Amino acid sequence: MNKVYWITGLSGAGKTTIGKLFYEKLRKEHCNTLFLDGDMLRQVFGDDLGYSEEDRRKCAMRYSRLCNMLQKQEMNVVCCTISMFDSVREWNRKNILSYCEIYIKVSMQTLQERDQKGLYSSYLQGKEKELAGVQVGMEEPRHPDLILQNDGEKTPDEQVEAIMEFIKKADRSCPVCGEKKAKVLKKINMAVPENYHLPDSYEVVVCEECGCVYANTRASMEDYDWYYTHCNFYGDDCKDDDNLRFEITQELLEKYVSKDAVILEMGAGNGFFIKALKKHGYSHVTGTDPSDESVRRLREAGIQTYVSDVYAEVLPEEKEKYDCIFLFEVAEHLLFPGRGISNIAKMLKPHGIFMISVPDYSKIEGDLTCIPNYFKRTGSGCTASGLFFRSIVGLSDVITWYEARVSETCGCGFNAGISESR
Ligand SMILES: [Zn+2]
Repeated sequence: MNKVYWITGLSGAGKTTIGKLFYEKLRKEHCNTLFLDGDMLRQVFGDDLGYSEEDRRKCAMRYSRLCNMLQKQEMNVVCCTISMFDSVREWNRKNILSYCEIYIKVSMQTLQERDQKGLYSSYLQGKEKELAGVQVGMEEPRHPDLILQNDGEKTPDEQVEAIMEFIKKADRSCPVCGEKKAKVLKKINMAVPENYHLPDSYEVVVCEECGCVYANTRASMEDYDWYYTHCNFYGDDCKDDDNLRFEITQELLEKYVSKDAVILEMGAGNGFFIKALKKHGYSHVTGTDPSDESVRRLREAGIQTYVSDVYAEVLPEEKEKYDCIFLFEVAEHLLFPGRGISNIAKMLKPHGIFMISVPDYSKIEGDLTCIPNYFKRTGSGCTASGLFFRSIVGLSDVITWYEARVSETCGCGFNAGISESR
């Protein structure tokens, strides 16, 4: 998937040499690749900014916005820039849909020895007052995706090899068909504690081959279990958006789900949906969520809730299986969507109702119409934050979709033995 490769490091670290070589290599594989370099961009923008901290910040933000625009136009961008500001890199992480930060790290001793532009010697002689990294408040990258130590032990070609190796592993292949060509739909930013190794964001992508929507992340299932158990819980209050979400679904509910249906909502979160169900007279509702805290709050609100995720069986107490299972804005985040669907199939009665709601990314992104066809639109609407949602009814559509696409070797966990649920 097309990305912005933000190659950062101090003046003389070797950004441009490595970046240029990397660009040339990447361009051979992807012709939609561009090379940008700080010095070059300064010229392009008319060299109107100086080297004070404020001007450097302005400069860096220009590059960030430019890269963001190009990424949206499906370009791969290799951008070599000093831009040693946390705020700039944070902006990049938050705003650029697909972003990879590569930090070329060198020791101060190496920099002084190299001193290509004479910057360090003139700084030391007191001529250069605003040398990034020596005087102007340099902030070293805190969460780079890749660090390359570049003190001369490796050649530039070897460094580029390391980048190529890294990016091959960085993108996850589709959990259904095994392909790697995917479009980024949305970036999920997570509040990960400072000392925890889980990446603080991941992309929700759609496979261009089969249409599966999945989480593009290098983190493992255990990592995310930990995150969703300990860090991800929601406040008690239902927001305006939540009420609207329920209203959007109400029409479908009335059509397909009777008030005495045995219902399960997986990933209940703050419980807006399950609480609304109870309020509207649905009496047999159960929820699950991986977060202890969310479960505790829902139980306090009088709702039968269990700590569990989408991959584990939670059967109803009073009946053998559920009449209806809901996944609300959960499906697109699953690490193994096939495994989740298989599990749901085991818990659902034959001809039971399976309802998914996912953000309608095509409305956000304009031309993205590549939502998999199992996310059929049967109901939609606009919430206060402007998102549209679509829902589907009918597990068999989903199963048919998976069965047609799953390759035996893909390891997505989608398995047979679920025909009784159809
Ligand atoms: Zn696929």
